[in-house]
Amino acid sequence: MQTDHLGRFPLAQLPTPVAPLEALGKLLGGPRLLIKRDDQTGLALGGNKTRKLEFLVADALAQGADTLLTAGAAQSNHCRQTAAAAARAGLKCELVLGGQPPDQPNGNLLLDEILGATIHWAGPERRGERLAEVADLVAAQGRRPYLIPYGGSNAVGAAGYVRAMEELMAQLAAVGQRVDHIVFASSSGGTQAGLMVGAKATGFEGQVLGIRIDKGYPLNTPYETHLVSLAQATADYMGLKVTITAADCSINADYMGAGYGVVGDLEREAIRMMARHEGILLDPAYTGRAFGGLIDLIRRGTFSPAETVLFWHTGGAPALFAYAGELSAR
Ligand SMILES: *Cc1c(COP(=O)(O)O)cnc(C)c1O
Repeated sequence: MQTDHLGRFPLAQLPTPVAPLEALGKLLGGPRLLIKRDDQTGLALGGNKTRKLEFLVADALAQGADTLLTAGAAQSNHCRQTAAAAARAGLKCELVLGGQPPDQPNGNLLLDEILGATIHWAGPERRGERLAEVADLVAAQGRRPYLIPYGGSNAVGAAGYVRAMEELMAQLAAVGQRVDHIVFASSSGGTQAGLMVGAKATGFEGQVLGIRIDKGYPLNTPYETHLVSLAQATADYMGLKVTITAADCSINADYMGAGYGVVGDLEREAIRMMARHEGILLDPAYTGRAFGGLIDLIRRGTFSPAETVLFWHTGGAPALFAYAGELSAR
């Protein structure tokens, strides 16, 4: 792993594995399929936010913060990984979660509690609308909060996915494997922006294709515009001399279903297929939807059988337990 001029607080077990999905590839009869296992980053059940948090926590410590503060849905994987990162770094953690406190915490929310985070319930405002307000509250107690935006998706956090792309390119080069399309769930954009920058910086010639899993973020900017400007800000922050344009941005918004975290047939089939043919767990809100989209694209003949598609697993399986009603076969 290359040394970094950016601060980096080690949280992840890297590199994460790359493996073929042979049974699923055969079943679907399309392109060769690979998977990159960022569900295995290793921090309190793992996921993509761990890579962002390595850079965010380093920045928080450099600024003398004593508290990490972030926001998300009640079943946010980002919030669970932030709570774990805070614990590892000796920081306090305050989470602003959408919705109301449930009778019995489950999935990621249960883990937030076990990891020692303080939870503030924000009703319908699950994307950090109340972050500044809670930051003031924490500061009024004489503490020094470090604000992590929704999904950890700013230039600091997205740097983690520039490094992730470099990691993947080194893994592929070591075995002489070519990849034509990289497909993954895209939501707050840090993962995609980082991969776009990493693709440009490493000379990756394939497609970086985000499957958008929900609309509404950011509020007043088209998602593509957000991705291009976040990617450029990330490159600038890292001192990489690359120019990002709309041509670097591939996003598919055909699979958003009935909204964030609403499990339908697409997600159910994808989760069961991956589990039953590969023994790998996807999640209800992100990877189940994105892989469901990929299955549909393959069935429609989008990719040639000569191509290789890499599905980047971004984690989220701890949320499965909060969706028993939607996912149980009973
Ligand atoms: C947050 C998350 C994503 C989306 O990543 P962004 O950087 O927010 O676009 C995808 N999958 C899982 C499991 C996540 O928790």
